[in-house]
Parts: sequence; structure tokens; C-alpha cells
Amino acid sequence: MLLINCPWCGPRAETEFLCGGEAGIARPLNPENITDQEWGDYLFMRTNPRGNSYEQWLHAAGCRRWFKANRDTVTYRFTSFETFGHEADATSGQE
Ligand SMILES: [Zn+2]
Repeated sequence: MLLINCPWCGPRAETEFLCGGEAGIARPLNPENITDQEWGDYLFMRTNPRGNSYEQWLHAAGCRRWFKANRDTVTYRFTSFETFGHEADATSGQE
């Protein structure tokens, strides 16, 4: 079983979490001034890396809080967790 380390609750089963996709994507400041292509890129285009991925996660069946994590998409190993507005916590929550 994969354990994910919620920054508030500690290690929990992966079935309690939902992945919210890639983290760190900034909404355009003036969306009325960008092209449809640029708006489409913002909404739909993601990097989908092989290896380290910076993602948003929701502890849906727990505290219902969002956090960010670095996860290796090949090994599923989480390398760090970060709450919004705080520095990264380098602890790994995976067994
Ligand atoms: Zn939690």
C-alpha cells in the first residue's frame, strides 16, 4: 500500500487522497488580453514529466486540506511535501 504523508495528519493510505494535477501554474493576470491559444494552454497544457513532478494533492477523506508534493512519476516515491504559503517539508511519507 502506498502511504502519503499529509502535512497535517501524517501518513495515510493513498485511497484517502485525490491528485489535483500539476502545481505552480499561475492564472494569467489579464485573461481578457490573451489569445484563445494562450488561454487554452493555461487551462489544458501540462508538462506530464517522466520523473520528478510537482503536484497538488487533496486529503479528501481526511482533513480536506490541499498541499503540494514532489513525486517521482516512475517510482511513485514522494520526496517532499509543502503546505500553501510555507516552506517544503523534506520528510518522505512513503513506505
Ligand atoms: Zn490531512
